[in-house]
Amino acid sequence: MNTLSLENVSVHYENYIAVNNVQIQVKDGQLACLLGPSGCGKTTLLRAIAGFEKVSAGSIKIGAEVISSSKHSLPPEKRKIGMVFQDFALFPHLSIARNIAFGIRHQSRNKQKQRVKELLELVDLQGYEKRYPHELSGGQQQRIALARALAPRPKLLLLDEPFASQDVELREMLAREVRLILKKEQVTALMVTHDQHEAFAMADVIGVMKQGMLQQWDTAYHLYHVPRNQFVADFVGEGAIIKGEVRAENIVTTALGDVQGSVPDSCAPGCPVDVLIRPDDIQLVEDENQACAGETSEALVLAQVFRGANFFYTLGLQDNSQVYALAPSHQKYAVGDKVRFSLDVKHLIILKSEKAAGSEW
Ligand code: ADP
Repeated sequence: MNTLSLENVSVHYENYIAVNNVQIQVKDGQLACLLGPSGCGKTTLLRAIAGFEKVSAGSIKIGAEVISSSKHSLPPEKRKIGMVFQDFALFPHLSIARNIAFGIRHQSRNKQKQRVKELLELVDLQGYEKRYPHELSGGQQQRIALARALAPRPKLLLLDEPFASQDVELREMLAREVRLILKKEQVTALMVTHDQHEAFAMADVIGVMKQGMLQQWDTAYHLYHVPRNQFVADFVGEGAIIKGEVRAENIVTTALGDVQGSVPDSCAPGCPVDVLIRPDDIQLVEDENQACAGETSEALVLAQVFRGANFFYTLGLQDNSQVYALAPSHQKYAVGDKVRFSLDVKHLIILKSEKAAGSEW
């Protein structure tokens, strides 16, 4: 069953289309994420699901119930949707227990107390009932905000950039923590973020958005290895596009020689294509003998970034195009060094060139 279904949803701000014809389904217990650059319409879509924006076309359903359409909009408080905001929005003058119990304050004292205890255990902050928000770290406040949103057992939880105010290094870890908590409580959730590491750490399924339109709704693995278009390929993960030309069925000629991969159906021999090369597709060859034996290419090191466990190199090819390479930190080269590399591609991504006639991008 689907907890959340969006059918051809559009949202306008006067004449501006912020969300354009979006169709998604979030299954019961699934953790989903909307990912995209700033201004692509993620928050607008989240707000439309919460009931704070009207949809101009299409419909939003929770289970079988239509909660939004152009003709009808259920008020936010009747939607049984929980929300976690960017700034947590905890009440500073209320204790942690009263913050968590806010959405169930009409229940009996005993029930409230029991639920608060349960939730503090869930977020691993047992015994914090009497403290106040300012006595907690950012990460702890985050977990309290989550507990508060979960207290009334919402059918769906929405999270709006929940880690945006945290340190960059912490965000991925927090996203993993939140994932574990939500899975334990068997919650269905939809998060909005512009950060792919957060999305990858938290979500079972991710929707990539661009200019109000959903580009792909898929697992993180598929977004990375089988992106549907160049925008997704560029936005998710690192990589460089090199130019190629279809030579025969599923064979493309590039500056790195002939490569094999699945060529889009619309590309006949002679068709220009873009080939996405991920940094992990490039193996820098250390040993000269190995270099003579296998099929390798020469490149010039144009830039080098030390990332602790590895180096991230930008390599210039003979035709002036560039690719990226990840190498273990003992494989140290300086800018200007000549290196040899081989291509070891498990999932070669070939997209119809943006410059090709009739291209959809
Ligand atoms: P995101 O969350 O992906 O950063 P938003 O949903 O906030 O994107 O915004 C999508 C687009 O709609 C942006 O171009 C933004 O400027 C515009 N927008 C957002 N809110 C309003 C509003 N209240 N009135 C008019 N335009 C808005």
